[in-house]
Amino acid sequence: MFVGHYAASLALKKFEKRASLGVLFLAVQLVDILFFPFVLLGIERINIIENYTQSTHFQLEYMPFTHSLLGSALWAAAAYALFRWVFIKNHAIALVVALAVFSHWVLDLVVHTPDLPLWSDSSLKLGFGLWNNAIATYVLEAALLLGALSVYLKSTTASTATGRYGMGVFVVFLLLVNVLNIFGPLGSDSKVQLAVSALAAYFVFAAVAFWLDKKRN
Ligand SMILES: [Zn+2]
Repeated sequence: MFVGHYAASLALKKFEKRASLGVLFLAVQLVDILFFPFVLLGIERINIIENYTQSTHFQLEYMPFTHSLLGSALWAAAAYALFRWVFIKNHAIALVVALAVFSHWVLDLVVHTPDLPLWSDSSLKLGFGLWNNAIATYVLEAALLLGALSVYLKSTTASTATGRYGMGVFVVFLLLVNVLNIFGPLGSDSKVQLAVSALAAYFVFAAVAFWLDKKRN
């Protein structure tokens, strides 16, 4: 799952308005933000295979550290600890950041083919396989994102025109990006290029979310 993860960021903002939406955008993708460098370092493995599923061009071969249930829980706990005792130092904010980190695994579970281990690579691997149906994958991500956008817009108020329309325009942009992501051809079989473009997207999207969120209160 790609842009659908941001549904968790937008929805969690309702529960803790002091949490930065930029941080929540990074938190929901934390395990992917770690996965790509891990791939380049040879710690985890992805194989680029054209049309491996209807929605993806890759096989996720080995990712117990970032995408196991145990790994995700530990990254969420680490995020909690960081925001509880190092930055911000607030229990409620730390909790929503941790939930955002953990939400990645739960949403991935629906779309991935059975490649999400419970704890180690030899443990049971789960994934309900929605990626095998590109339209259903797209519709699910869009529905999640639009539903969460409405929660976010109802729970915050705009102070400027940018604040009023910005987040809606941004979500439409994310939905367009996801058309290319799900239905687009395999652009390149370079793992470095895949990693760089994914990481750039995660950080740019988080920066835009951070900026637009400042226009609402
Ligand atoms: Zn992932």
